[in-house]
Amino acid sequence: MTMLRLDLNRLGREGSVQVEAELPVDAPLWDEGDFPWAGPVGVKLQASNAGSGEIVVRGAIEGVLARECRRCLEPVLVRFEHDLTAVFVESGASDTEDDEGVYVYDSSAELDLSSAVREEILLAVDPYVVCESDCLGLCSICGVNRNTGSCSCSSDEPDPRWEALRALKEK
Ligand SMILES: [Zn+2]
Ligand SMILES: [Zn+2]
Repeated sequence: MTMLRLDLNRLGREGSVQVEAELPVDAPLWDEGDFPWAGPVGVKLQASNAGSGEIVVRGAIEGVLARECRRCLEPVLVRFEHDLTAVFVESGASDTEDDEGVYVYDSSAELDLSSAVREEILLAVDPYVVCESDCLGLCSICGVNRNTGSCSCSSDEPDPRWEALRALKEK
């Protein structure tokens, strides 16, 4: 069962419909793409009939992602909060191009919002995560985590890979 279904008949009658769901980490919606959720994801959407087959969906998504620090590779929990706006246009109804945030739907009884929600999250997820803004990362020579340990590698000792390159250039 998809939990993010919009009843189009109801939308036609009421003009505006709320869609709310608490999506578990194993919801089929997350099968495509990389979504390391650490817990359920809250989705609160408000769909409004904008006339001529256009539906505007606004709302908020929030959850927690289990990520990895890009510098020290330690696990980090990152709060994800995103305000979403998506526009749905009836298929064949207009000449809309592939605009960002614009989705095409068939005029059936229901509109499945899950793929739009997935797309919007993928676009919003920050690809660069650090555990702390001043994370020292790993030593580029011995790999020790410099936040928690120290090593005897001298910081001004050039990386051996660069040293090899320089030697080539000087020839
Ligand atoms: Zn880190
Ligand atoms: Zn080291």
